[in-house]
Amino acid sequence: MHIPQLIERKRDGGTLTTEEIRAFIHAFATDEIPDYQMSALAMAIYFRGLDAVETATFTAAMRDSGRVFHWPTGSPPKVDKHSTGGVGDKTSLVLAPLLACDGLWVPMVSGRGLGITGGTLDKLESIPGFDVHLSEEKCLAQIEKLGLFMAGQTADFCPADKKLYALRDVTGTVPSRELIIASIMSKKLAESLDRLVLDVKFGPGAFMKTREDAQKLALGLQSAGQENNVITQFLLTPMAEPLGETVGNALEVKEAVDTLQGKGPADFVELTLDLCERVADSPREKLAGWLKDGTAWKKFTAMVSAQGGDVTALERITKIHHAPIIKPFPATRDGIIKRLDAGTIGAASVRLGAGRQRASDTIDCAVGFSGIRKCGEQIAKGEPLFFIHARTEEALELARHQVAAAVSIR
Ligand code: URA
Repeated sequence: MHIPQLIERKRDGGTLTTEEIRAFIHAFATDEIPDYQMSALAMAIYFRGLDAVETATFTAAMRDSGRVFHWPTGSPPKVDKHSTGGVGDKTSLVLAPLLACDGLWVPMVSGRGLGITGGTLDKLESIPGFDVHLSEEKCLAQIEKLGLFMAGQTADFCPADKKLYALRDVTGTVPSRELIIASIMSKKLAESLDRLVLDVKFGPGAFMKTREDAQKLALGLQSAGQENNVITQFLLTPMAEPLGETVGNALEVKEAVDTLQGKGPADFVELTLDLCERVADSPREKLAGWLKDGTAWKKFTAMVSAQGGDVTALERITKIHHAPIIKPFPATRDGIIKRLDAGTIGAASVRLGAGRQRASDTIDCAVGFSGIRKCGEQIAKGEPLFFIHARTEEALELARHQVAAAVSIR
């Protein structure tokens, strides 16, 4: 393999063969190709793209750079969801146990939050004792017993993606659609799934700002999944206002707990069921019933307990992580709520400390927003649009100032 020739071919708009892509990624993952050559290829891909076959091959090669789950023959269908990330999106916490209630296996490997998008691992880690660092043996034992685990990526899970992402981050190549597809899907393919549902979000609080861009990404993700023998479906969902009524780690866990006990907000319950029914065996009514009758809650507490979490903490999680300052943000006039901009509220929650601006930042589980009202609702002057949970008076003032621009009432 002559590396410069491959880079030049992609730079000039040519196609790389399956063997070439596989060899390139393998050599990159094993440090045989220097970062500057991988960076050059990433930039060539950024400008020239990859076709569907190249993208699927690139994705599979990244998957194969590390450990892949191997499930016992005859085990139930393996299913999962991936969301491109939104504000207040705690769907995984409810969806995973709900699908496990359906007799499916849910091997959920999740990430941390970055920027305005929250991360499942951060939310789970607000539960005292909850361990997201599971060995392969532990994952297998737990899934055999309970039908699910929720864990973080280990060092040997898609190492090529980890290395490439770090390079993309410093070479202006993060926004390449094909590299995004390969990055997301390599990690999902390493779970060795049968079915996957994608929640591709669009709008001010999402990575993709327009529905058209979200659809292009969704079709590319779907194709990479299908080409690699995973039945892949997607939903395009708006992220104009936050999902549910909370943003912030412990606050979102509490909302997930309420939802698992049949008391969830309508938008969050609907989205969770919309996603679940794309990969479930049972019909929607049955899934909805498991949220109402305690079945899903029981499954969730069994998982929390199996992963070392304190189940008794779940219902008092917002007491355990309690922000010293909780203040309402009042409506300034009577009218209908027209806009509660998810992007601005997400950015304000990061400023409060609920998220990270850099991967190395630590997060504050207690802070964020609760009681968030919904667009389309009538509100009276002085009624709270939401409550701000802050660590300091200074942080509260900053958040107040920031979110004032997020709201329109008419
Ligand atoms: N999420 C990922 O895992 N990778 C990307 O490149 C973008 C989003």
